[in-house]
Amino acid sequence: MTPRECAALLAYVVRLDPRMSLDDQAAAADRLAQWCDLLSDVPATAHGWDAAKTARDYIARTPYRIQPSDVSRPWHAHKADMLARHVGTFEPTAHPNLDPDDIRGYRVALAADRHAVATGQQAPTTHRAITAGPAAAEVERRLAQLGTYVPRSVAQALTGYRPRRAERDRLAVEGAPDPLDVTCPYEHCRAGRGEPCRNNRRKPRAKAHPTRVDLAAERHYAPENAR
Ligand SMILES: [Zn+2]
Repeated sequence: MTPRECAALLAYVVRLDPRMSLDDQAAAADRLAQWCDLLSDVPATAHGWDAAKTARDYIARTPYRIQPSDVSRPWHAHKADMLARHVGTFEPTAHPNLDPDDIRGYRVALAADRHAVATGQQAPTTHRAITAGPAAAEVERRLAQLGTYVPRSVAQALTGYRPRRAERDRLAVEGAPDPLDVTCPYEHCRAGRGEPCRNNRRKPRAKAHPTRVDLAAERHYAPENAR
């Protein structure tokens, strides 16, 4: 917080709790200096954080006079929570010029991202899926092949109604082999690409035949497929 933000916070606190009001100008200046010092590493606002709201909640909840630590402690807890949720995969769009082979550059960018999260300038990256580089492009290619005719958020909401499609999306996102990418080799089935395996009564099976799963895995991990 800048001294200006700190003064504004203190004025707000005094308005909410008149007991905090000081008639003595020198004492008020001392207290402001103390608050400024103790809250210098606490932002006024940040992602998911508002110092004024924290102070307000404290005054609303407790009968004790607020101290700078009643603002700084929640901030450090919030910061720790954000860092715990930040998994360290950074947004590629934020680092368009980064060479994937530049390990040092990667570390610096990662540290910068962590710093941005810690200071509340950036929301934590909480997803663990592949989101950057050639692997991400491959995921996008597979999803495009499956047809993204509904937005991803809607597709996720529909997951329960479209289990087969949801499963294919999941495999694509995880970079795992998809049995439906190959024709089923099982002689009594022979389901074509994109078609579910069928049982003896030609009804769709929930799971692909084991030989089809094996074939898809073989194709997926075969050396000639290696990128
Ligand atoms: Zn089959």
